[in-house]
Amino acid sequence: MSNQPSSAIRHDWTPEEVTALFQLPFNDLMFQAQTVHRQNFDANEVQISTLLSIKTGACPEDCKYCPQSGHYNTGLEKEKLMEIQRVIEEAKAAQEGGASRFCMGAAWRSPTVKQMPYVVDMIKQVKDLGMETCMTLGMLDGDQAQELADAGLDYYNHNLDTSPEYYEDIITTRTYQNRLDTLQNVRDSGMKVCCGGIVGMGETLRDRAGLMVELANLPHHPESVPINMLVKVEGTPMDQVEDLDPFDFIRSIAVARIMMPESHVRLSAGREEMNEQMQSMCFLAGANSIFYGCKLLTTANPEADADRQLFQKLGIRPEQRNQEHGDNAQQAALMDAVKQQRTDAFFYDASQAS
Ligand code: SF4
Repeated sequence: MSNQPSSAIRHDWTPEEVTALFQLPFNDLMFQAQTVHRQNFDANEVQISTLLSIKTGACPEDCKYCPQSGHYNTGLEKEKLMEIQRVIEEAKAAQEGGASRFCMGAAWRSPTVKQMPYVVDMIKQVKDLGMETCMTLGMLDGDQAQELADAGLDYYNHNLDTSPEYYEDIITTRTYQNRLDTLQNVRDSGMKVCCGGIVGMGETLRDRAGLMVELANLPHHPESVPINMLVKVEGTPMDQVEDLDPFDFIRSIAVARIMMPESHVRLSAGREEMNEQMQSMCFLAGANSIFYGCKLLTTANPEADADRQLFQKLGIRPEQRNQEHGDNAQQAALMDAVKQQRTDAFFYDASQAS
């Protein structure tokens, strides 16, 4: 394989060449990833979003890594769908803290006919605040995806989790094809796609390559690609899985960056377990998106203040939104806050909200 980095948008990756990418000498892989990253992004900017769980726990799906699954006893406190007013208050607080995108997640198999009007209303009201919106609600059929898009939802998150081959070891209550169908419905509706996976679930290198092949060979690359490191939660079947070598995670970020040059690669779940040096290696490998100042659905996210300090140490700025996304005053305010090293009300912490 050539070590010459290329930013070509490709949808014809083979497992063999992606496995070879993973096996490059570490420095060569990082060089390729950083080169591709710089061809497409400002290397010192990271996009940040806030994530709120609008309905926690008692999910009927059996994803073996997930504390929200009703199949496992993890001691997680179950919550009903959050009242719209409360969601809007959380969104306003996030906005006042500088967040420009508000992501809302519900532990559902898919939204029901009864639930749809609530989420549609949430989208409209959060949009009315002038924020970008993202949701993750489980599987969507074509009509549901269109309804959410028509309400103004900007992004929909639905992950592939792992390779098709390893998938049945992780989830049995929905198929890989179900997931691909939802992604197609989201794409057809005109919404942007947020789709990635999880590393560290006992998968082989070939599985990791297989996940990346599936993501990059979608008809359009997802605009946002969250790469999660498994957070082992007691009570889930994954709580005893062998620890992932941090270099394997960093390699996964680098490979995602090389294969999907124009996508935001998101350093997602598991960040709390990474020290500053590992996070900075992930940024060097091409990660350019994080959640901050909020619980990452049910697992803790690093203290927002630690994020602020790390950004300052690395000279990283929050990414400015494109004009196509409308008014970028929020992001400008956030950048000002970083420059001025303000700590007050800068990072919004939903886990502390009443
Ligand atoms: S990952 Fe999502 S679908 Fe799977 S159990 Fe958790 S909340 Fe449910």
